[in-house]
Amino acid sequence: MNKVNRPKRIVIIGAVAAGTSAAAKARRNDEEAEIVIYEMDEHISYSGCGLPYYIGGKVANLEALTPRDPKFFRDKYEVDILIRHKVLSVDPAAKTLVIQNLATGETFADRYDVLVLSTGATSMIPPIPGVDLPHVFTLRNPLSARTIRTFIEEHQPKTAAVVGSGFIGLEMVENLVDAGILVSVVEKLPQVCPFVDPDLAPYVEETLVKKNVTVLTGVAATEIWPGSVNLDDGSTVDADLVILAVGVRPNTTLARDMGVVVGSTGAIAVNTRMQTNLPDVYACGDCAETFSIIDGRPLYRPLGSTANKMGRIAGDILTGGSLAFRGIAGTGIFKLFDHTIAASGLTEKQARDSGYDIVISHNIKPDKPEYFGGREMVIKAIADRKTEKLLGVQIVGYEGVDKRMDVFVTAMTAGLGVSDLFHLDLAYAPPFATTKDPILYTGMILDNALHRGRDIITADDLMATDPAEIQVVDARVAKQYQEHHVDHAVSMPHGSLREQMAALDKDKPVVTYCNKGTTGNAAQNILINHGFRKVYNLSGGHKQYKACKKCHEKKQ
Ligand SMILES: Cc1cc2nc3c(=O)[nH]c(=O)nc-3n(C[C@H](O)[C@H](O)[C@H](O)COP(=O)(O)OP(=O)(O)OC[C@H]3O[C@@H](n4cnc5c(N)ncnc54)[C@H](O)[C@@H]3O)c2cc1C
Repeated sequence: MNKVNRPKRIVIIGAVAAGTSAAAKARRNDEEAEIVIYEMDEHISYSGCGLPYYIGGKVANLEALTPRDPKFFRDKYEVDILIRHKVLSVDPAAKTLVIQNLATGETFADRYDVLVLSTGATSMIPPIPGVDLPHVFTLRNPLSARTIRTFIEEHQPKTAAVVGSGFIGLEMVENLVDAGILVSVVEKLPQVCPFVDPDLAPYVEETLVKKNVTVLTGVAATEIWPGSVNLDDGSTVDADLVILAVGVRPNTTLARDMGVVVGSTGAIAVNTRMQTNLPDVYACGDCAETFSIIDGRPLYRPLGSTANKMGRIAGDILTGGSLAFRGIAGTGIFKLFDHTIAASGLTEKQARDSGYDIVISHNIKPDKPEYFGGREMVIKAIADRKTEKLLGVQIVGYEGVDKRMDVFVTAMTAGLGVSDLFHLDLAYAPPFATTKDPILYTGMILDNALHRGRDIITADDLMATDPAEIQVVDARVAKQYQEHHVDHAVSMPHGSLREQMAALDKDKPVVTYCNKGTTGNAAQNILINHGFRKVYNLSGGHKQYKACKKCHEKKQ
């Protein structure tokens, strides 16, 4: 066959989520192309997301997470996957690669017409002594999961330290606790779970503490010893096992060496067609940069959901398709014991740093009626006052968090305004939701703040306000006020507010609150209707105030 008629040769580097998605889509579009994947690991197309549950024994066999082998891809897609083959270098001018067979040590050359970089990411390792000790692990692939599980079975550790409290760290905490191990979490930042804002982190911390997990925030690990970890405040935690979960970085060495440009996030820069700066070189998955649908900025979110999407788009484009990447909100979700934690879009800090004029609501509602076992979730929503669109949402709750988050993400993706949320015709029956779903309530709170003069103030902003400049009204029953109340608050229960409000100055701003916000809003309405000039309802009420107070106390 001469060169002109020769089938296109597509070479892909990396065979997990992005690489295999690219290959499968390319094959669906093109029966003729030669498709080859080089993968230096022995496992391919696995569920990295299930690995913590394999370690904890909830997934019995590693095979359940690694259901596909090269034969599957050969038989189903006519794709050749060469495992334990590492691509050492690429010459983009000659369109050639040098590969090493890791089993034999032999190196050889190959050629490509189109190259896909799906080299993924690597767990970061803090630069401290002791990280290479035999009881210290990172978790990235099936081999690392098997090594950790074998270590636990053979050594029966009684204590563990998880360094880093991102979602992988916390999923590991749950699985180690369930395996009967006493766990400490070491987090350099002042809060656990940096995935959410500081004012939601106390709910996550509370969940950990209830499970007897020692939570150490604002401290960094400085040295690891057999049986313990030293921290930078001079203390030590016991640890027969150490999991390092301090984040991942994109694998870009090969790409940089061949002249591929990386973006501001440190991952490979691609356009919406997954093309890099070099002709016929694509990149997708955890090695590549994406962009935010909220503000268009470059974003690095190494997640399986995005990697699969990017891989499919790369596979489509390189075989003549027309798919285009539309960006991501940056949605993530994970389970922590009986809790679910989800976040999407901008955090409060990111929104403020970007210069948005924001309104924030903390909406605390059960996922379904209490008579059906409904339990509260806290929904923090951040909206732009100018466009009235959601910028970000974070939810901590028990059940039904995934459903709410997915609706919010859909709303953000579709560019709905906050007032549209109330009008969504969401599914309702008592086993699933409340008549007005928590999503509708969030929309109502934000809409009332933006259009009906029912302003909201966050506990953070209240604490930063000079007490002399504001009047704070506790609208709960007197007994609740006596048990605990917001600093400087006076007790004026909702039922007697009309009689008592003469004691307040109508021209001075007032903040009303109740336990979670609803009665606080009723008190706010009364005061506004009686001519008070500026009345705020405390976002999330006393419950959110207490959470916030906790995080302020931690900072001191
Ligand atoms: C414990 C854990 C839990 C997770 N949970 C979730 C979750 O709940 N939800 C979610 O969306 N995501 C989750 N993720 C993230 C998800 O697993 C990744 O986003 C996904 O695996 C990325 O796929 P990828 O193909 O881009 O990269 P990777 O999975 O990193 O695969 C890249 C592959 O390329 C290979 N490679 C690199 N360089 C070369 C080379 N030079 N030659 C040959 N081969 C090479 C590597 O060996 C690797 O196997 C989790 C990850 C982990 C580790």
